[in-house]
Amino acid sequence: MTVTRFAPSPTGYLHIGGLRTSLYSYLWARKNGGVFRLRIEDTDLARNSEEALKAIIEAFNWVGLSYDGEVEYQSKRMDIYKKYIDILLENGNAYKCYMSKEELDSLRASQEAAKQTPRYDGTWRPEDGKTLPPIPAGVEPVIRIKAPKDGEIRFVDGVKGDMKFDSSFVDDFVIARSSGVPTYNFVVTIDDMLMQMTDVIRGDDHLSNTPKQIVIYNALGVKHPNFYHVPMINNPEGKKLSKRDGAMDVMDYKRLGYLPEALLNFLVRLGWSNKDQEIFSMDEMLELFDPKNINKSASAYNAEKLLWLNSEYIKATSNERLVEELKFFDLDLSTYSKKDEILNLSKQRANTLLELKKSILDIKDKPEEYEEAGVKKFVKDDTSVILKEYLELLANNKDSFSSIENLENLTKPFIEAKSLKFPQLFQPIRIALTGGTQAPSVYDILFILGFEEVEKRILKALEKNFKNS
Ligand code: GLU
Repeated sequence: MTVTRFAPSPTGYLHIGGLRTSLYSYLWARKNGGVFRLRIEDTDLARNSEEALKAIIEAFNWVGLSYDGEVEYQSKRMDIYKKYIDILLENGNAYKCYMSKEELDSLRASQEAAKQTPRYDGTWRPEDGKTLPPIPAGVEPVIRIKAPKDGEIRFVDGVKGDMKFDSSFVDDFVIARSSGVPTYNFVVTIDDMLMQMTDVIRGDDHLSNTPKQIVIYNALGVKHPNFYHVPMINNPEGKKLSKRDGAMDVMDYKRLGYLPEALLNFLVRLGWSNKDQEIFSMDEMLELFDPKNINKSASAYNAEKLLWLNSEYIKATSNERLVEELKFFDLDLSTYSKKDEILNLSKQRANTLLELKKSILDIKDKPEEYEEAGVKKFVKDDTSVILKEYLELLANNKDSFSSIENLENLTKPFIEAKSLKFPQLFQPIRIALTGGTQAPSVYDILFILGFEEVEKRILKALEKNFKNS
């Protein structure tokens, strides 16, 4: 059975890189009818925060990636790690090192002076026939793993292919500090082992941890999971993604009016592809995703593509759901009688939920002011007569408000009969109804607002002579 996990460290918000690897892990587990776990890597007490933890879980819930079982917290599993440290000490694959910090510093300094890579010199490493130094008084030892001294550590990465690391790169690294607190690579390995991970999908910034983790698996006599190291998301210039490019808190995307499905769709394509398909429903992602097809090279963040995807998702989203989503932006359309009409119209043009809200309010709320440039350009001496006559026509044909087509059939002959050009009638009406000249089709607005509201707004504009004071 496939078991994957998402293992964030609660040292900051959930960013899109983390969300992407968790999406990949989620898809791979769900696709195979497996298990997807959430594990909070909170052993770095100095850098953890309760707030970050809450933010990560909130973001995770927003995008709707469900996990199985209880959330595991590493901070609550110290006894378990301690037990495995003891096992390794007993089976001779780990040992106590009493070297003081000063000794280590001076060792490092002399190696650096000799242009050597700093390494532990093996002073406390037990070997057959070797006598260890006498244990110094008052020094709490660290625990080091007995790593292979020569040769290579090899594994097949599901994304990058054959990987090999010189054993000297790993060194007898510390698995528990003198305080007894286990180190990062140790706890990750113990947890992945106990949670029976089959596939570890994570950012390639963790690649250098993997040989160390493999040494621990080997020391415990356990097979290691498959590893997939996913290349980073860069900015369009190929540099590290910064906040300005979009390395934001996942919840910022919610605040900016993105739908979670659009964000997930964007992320699945950032680093993975299936021919040239761009839009993937969750079902399609589940059907098609395979970590073997994760790109080998870094991907580039593309803000326009995300906007485009979001606009496609908004168009395809039911009005019922949009009404719910808009509540987050303090717009409640649930009791508005024309909600379907206004949403059907506005969602065709909105890239984000914020734009959707604006375009709805432009129509729904009476204008607070009239766009001066538009008034100057389109409101002429004859405008008031034209509008009054048109209003009269509407008043005598209120039935026409039953459909856009009827409104069109009523208006066109009027324009022809008066030998008007469309903007002569339509632009002043747009301004009277919405305040600006950019609003969608006049027929749509008339239809949505209905006769009474249209009459009110046109009369108001005429009364104020399209002035703002
Ligand atoms: N806790 C690590 C992080 O947040 C992930 C560790 C892993 O996936 O192995 O970067």
